Amino acid sequence: MQCLLCQQAIVTISADHLCPHCRLALPFNRNPCLHCALPLQVLDEAREERDTSICAECLTKPLANRAIAPLVHRHEAAHLIHRLKFHRSEPEGRTLAMLMATQVRLREMGSLPTLLVPVPVAYATAVHRGFNQSALLAWHLAKTFNIGYAPKLLARQGGPAQRSLSRGQRLNSAQFARRSSAKPLAGAHVAIVDDVLTTGTTVRRVSRLLRQLGAGFVDVWCATRTPSLNDDYPTASTQRFDL
Ligand SMILES: [Zn+2]
Ligand SMILES: [Zn+2]
Repeated sequence: MQCLLCQQAIVTISADHLCPHCRLALPFNRNPCLHCALPLQVLDEAREERDTSICAECLTKPLANRAIAPLVHRHEAAHLIHRLKFHRSEPEGRTLAMLMATQVRLREMGSLPTLLVPVPVAYATAVHRGFNQSALLAWHLAKTFNIGYAPKLLARQGGPAQRSLSRGQRLNSAQFARRSSAKPLAGAHVAIVDDVLTTGTTVRRVSRLLRQLGAGFVDVWCATRTPSLNDDYPTASTQRFDL
């Protein structure tokens, strides 16, 4: 077995296909915002596990009920996502899903969602790549936690892939729709699953649709989270919550 990142042979069998060195070197999201997983500054090492931080924006407009993203989207984490997305590499998908599952167990302070909804890719993208990376992550996680998996609840209309758009254009593209076959969610606790969480625009749109379908709580589970545009690690809002 080889390490996914450095290609060195792994002596001890590891389910995540990483050598101990590369596992430790991953850019972990050590102090994420509770509602959007934005990486925030770690102010007090000793209190890290007990604190629940919330970023300034989420104080007034929380992105989701709970958000988890185990990794900051840079270096090795960005490499794993790239391999998953553009090379359809399943071992990377499994490893990222395992890291997400660990984060869910560590951070989850209430009940788990009962249904996972991967962010749909556009039909053209699905045909071109033959693959939806978010659906692969959601499938692994649904199996891990033995909860529902709904890859066909929503659909995405065509339109250019997000990468080629400016932020302003992104706000107006990526239209999602519920499929006619979608059943009402009747107050269900749902989690949106995506590979990378960037501006949150996609999540807000998908979240709105899920609420229209009747979802009670909407969480977000992502593998990586991009740092803030202006400040790599902003401090948490001065208000701290003991939940
Ligand atoms: Zn390695
Ligand atoms: Zn936030």
